Amino acid sequence: MNSAPVQVLGEVNAFLSRATGSFIDGEYSTTGDKQAEALDPSSGQPLASLALATEADVDRAVAIAKARFDDKTWRGKRVAERERILLRFADLVEQHAEELAQIETLNQGKSINVTRMVDVGFSVDFMRYMAGWTTKLEGRTSEVSISMPADAQFNAYTLRQPVGVVAGIVPWNFPMMIALWKIMPALAAGCTIVIKPATETPLSVLRLAELALEAGIPSGVFSVVVGGGATAGQRLAEHPDIRKVTFTGSTAVGKGIGHAAIDHMAHFSLELGGKNPMLVLEDADLDKAVEGALMAGLLNQGQVCAAASRFYVHRSQYEAFCERLHQAVSEMSMGPGLDPTAQLNPVVSKRHQQSILSYLELAEREGARVLRGAGTPDHTGFYVSPVVLADVTQQMTLAREEVFGPVLSVIPFDDADEALAMVNDSELGLAASLWTNDLSQAMRLIPEIEAGTVWVNTHVTLDPNLPFGGVKQSGTGREFGREAIESFTELKSVCIAY
Ligand code: NAP
Ligand code: MG
Repeated sequence: MNSAPVQVLGEVNAFLSRATGSFIDGEYSTTGDKQAEALDPSSGQPLASLALATEADVDRAVAIAKARFDDKTWRGKRVAERERILLRFADLVEQHAEELAQIETLNQGKSINVTRMVDVGFSVDFMRYMAGWTTKLEGRTSEVSISMPADAQFNAYTLRQPVGVVAGIVPWNFPMMIALWKIMPALAAGCTIVIKPATETPLSVLRLAELALEAGIPSGVFSVVVGGGATAGQRLAEHPDIRKVTFTGSTAVGKGIGHAAIDHMAHFSLELGGKNPMLVLEDADLDKAVEGALMAGLLNQGQVCAAASRFYVHRSQYEAFCERLHQAVSEMSMGPGLDPTAQLNPVVSKRHQQSILSYLELAEREGARVLRGAGTPDHTGFYVSPVVLADVTQQMTLAREEVFGPVLSVIPFDDADEALAMVNDSELGLAASLWTNDLSQAMRLIPEIEAGTVWVNTHVTLDPNLPFGGVKQSGTGREFGREAIESFTELKSVCIAY
């Protein structure tokens, strides 16, 4: 790891003065009626001031995306050409990696080490992976399966076609990366797309839209509307010309979006976060489990939909596990994301900081044993000290609700079936991890865990080729893999008599 302090690039400063609002049909639009400031969470200071889109601005972005869909500007290109353009888009993101990582760190707050490796690094891999699907979408052919006269000749096949204009509504925790999880399969399938970033973190997606244009994606095929959820977001979800809404965020907002989409019979996929358990069995390797817990629980200050936040640990290892976690969080250094030596950074906003702190007060009132970690730096900035909560019980709020912060709730258990019951005693079901070397136990438990993803001896290992999404209140639909790109297509069945 390079420990030199990060010098903000000239390109970043130039971008910050150019980013003035939504990016519609290839240019910035400043027609909104209000301004919002994108802040630096490490100081609370403004980075850029942006016009907020009104419903009329959203309608204009959708109308242009619809016109580009209807005139076949994008979907009419040969798939090999679309693939080449999308690969060029990935190359440009890679060439501008440091600039994008700095923009993301400045606006979201997380470490530059993470934005370099995950937000940008993982995104480039994901982009190339999804670009490749452009040339691999296919239907199937079949015989007619019912009884027919002997001389009748039929041929049947399915055709996959882009759904149409897509709306992507994305959160503030991985602003650019999660937007790309929507943008890439949509464009690979031949759709056009309008993205609405969270008001707190619009910047990296705007830079992405500029690079898309430079890569040769025609203007208006991918636009960005910067605006509030209740206004611009709501309008996008309910717009009659939107054929698919793909959302990542909270369960409450996701449900509203699903209702709005179904009203005009648009497809929708909802990725709604989790209260993800890590289950540490009696035989688990404690070193690996502790290291895994710190990574799974504290990456991006715990602001990760797949983060582990409930730790069920066999009683034989329980005290040691709590102690080791406490020791580790006590020794962590906190500072701005641009300081590559800081192990923890501010959370995204003042509002979110207050929300996490109120969960901690509640944990104390409900009787959890609070093991505090490193103190916050004594300057302004939205810092939250990491906290281990020992002796949490299944009934406490901190075992049930998603806090989305650096808070690790640890719960002891005596046998694996008791632990399994607690793991499944949740409204949410995004992901879970199992820590054991006992193959028989693992193979027995994996099918019983109610989650969209189960990891064994690892956590938050996302793979573009492995579908990702939730069960229960964690949502519906899958991102990544063949399943993701297929979900941006409409299936047409063709039957030919000859
Ligand atoms: P959120 O309110 O669900 O926001 C997610 C996105 O939806 C943002 O772009 C937001 O816009 C937009 N939005 C809000 N209300 C909308 C509406 N009525 N119609 C259409 N779009 C709307 O999430 P949040 O407030 O940022 O975070 C709250 C909690 O959600 C977190 O504490 C965490 O538990 C969970 N969360 C989960 C994930 C995940 O990865 N699954 C990510 C982030 C948060 P504006 O913010 O601009 O208003
Ligand atoms: Mg919100």
